[in-house]
Amino acid sequence: MRTTAQWQAADASHFLHPFTDFGALARKGSRIITKAENIYLTDSEGQRILDAMSGLWCVNVGYGQQALIDAATRQLKELPFYNAFFQTATPPAIELAELLAEVTPPQFQHVFFAGSGSEGNDTIVRMVRRYWDILGQPERQVIISRKNGYHGSTMAGASLGGMSYMHAQGGLPIPNITHIDQPYWYENGRPQGLSREDFGKVAAGWLEQKILEVGPEKVAAFIGEPIQGAGGVIVPPETYWPEIQRICDKYGILLVSDEVICGFGRTGNWWGCETMGFRPDLMTFAKGVTSGYIPLGGVMVGDRVAKVLIEQGGDFNHGYTYSGHPVACAVALANIKLIRELKLVEQVRENTGPYLAAQFKALEDHPLVGEQQTKGLMGALLLVKDKAQGTPFASELEVGMVCRGHCFGNGLIMRAVGDRMIIAPPLVITRAQVDEMMALIRRALDLTLTDVRAKGWL
Ligand SMILES: *Cc1c(COP(=O)(O)O)cnc(C)c1O
Repeated sequence: MRTTAQWQAADASHFLHPFTDFGALARKGSRIITKAENIYLTDSEGQRILDAMSGLWCVNVGYGQQALIDAATRQLKELPFYNAFFQTATPPAIELAELLAEVTPPQFQHVFFAGSGSEGNDTIVRMVRRYWDILGQPERQVIISRKNGYHGSTMAGASLGGMSYMHAQGGLPIPNITHIDQPYWYENGRPQGLSREDFGKVAAGWLEQKILEVGPEKVAAFIGEPIQGAGGVIVPPETYWPEIQRICDKYGILLVSDEVICGFGRTGNWWGCETMGFRPDLMTFAKGVTSGYIPLGGVMVGDRVAKVLIEQGGDFNHGYTYSGHPVACAVALANIKLIRELKLVEQVRENTGPYLAAQFKALEDHPLVGEQQTKGLMGALLLVKDKAQGTPFASELEVGMVCRGHCFGNGLIMRAVGDRMIIAPPLVITRAQVDEMMALIRRALDLTLTDVRAKGWL
């Protein structure tokens, strides 16, 4: 086994990491993660780290689950690959399609497989435009999305997403994708004195304004995450999604739920749209479908769209080599069966989710915490300069990164999105482990407070 320094040197010489300042990381050196079990990672120095981000929002059943390992091994021996292009199919892909139809809301009976969430959203763009073509409305091209939403990093995924720093590189967004503001009450509703409920309706109204501005006859679809994940775990007011649904229905616009994070139990129901109260026509999934053990993504296609594609569509000229990859599908089957067996969705809804909510609520008295939010096993703490006024820290101080540094230093992975500290721990986390995680979070907050005071930032 190489030493940490040797790994870091080789890494810096050859491996360009995603969403990374290559030069800065090469100088600093990566942290090398060597193994993991349950909710704990181990690095090359032997330090144990509680993984409160489930890898990257995906390892929902935790690390080391034998059922998933066995499923992959068995399938690799039996049939490691065969495609679904040549009017062919493999048993794991068929069985997974069948099981997905069972665990998704009733309007979903069909699936189109992809290799990742980004690819799934590329499929969404192709599919909704094709849908309107078939119906003789080819002018319906425009897809409306939201600022600070995240839908992946391919050309279409990054365009649908509303991350301005991503659009700034590579000439994005691609044509016919436009964005409305996000439903972020603390930043946009609270300063105007709006209640969460009223703000939810105002924010949904921005969709109607945009539809009228573009021209309803040109709008193909609206896409959003039930709860924005990478944008900072922003839980919209309860009034938001039902109003979005009403507006989409009014103009006949397809409603797309990007369930890449919220799907498979994260919010205490199988799907985020169930938790937030809307009925999408299409859903993107990835991450939790295999608990990240192997890449897989796809699109659940609701009856409204499936019927048109199947009965009137002819050839759909789109697909991926790995659409329905048998090993990925076999792992997904084992993963979904395990989620059921362990009753993880119920556990999040009735046990660990409410428990986490109470623990986060208790952090409201911390001098740095301006707002806390949780839904199921997603949570965010916003660090602010002045709690009473809700004044943020200057962004160049990077207070979130200071806090993240203290988390990493003390054996906890918690992510910083600006000054929003976010978690999404594995769904197998126990109450005792939530306590352990909360103790680490409190410690990181206290150390951050000490730093911030010492630097005179408060
Ligand atoms: C991660 C993510 C994606 C992109 O998935 P990849 O597998 O990284 O391509 C899309 N949408 C949401 C909501 C995500 O969180």
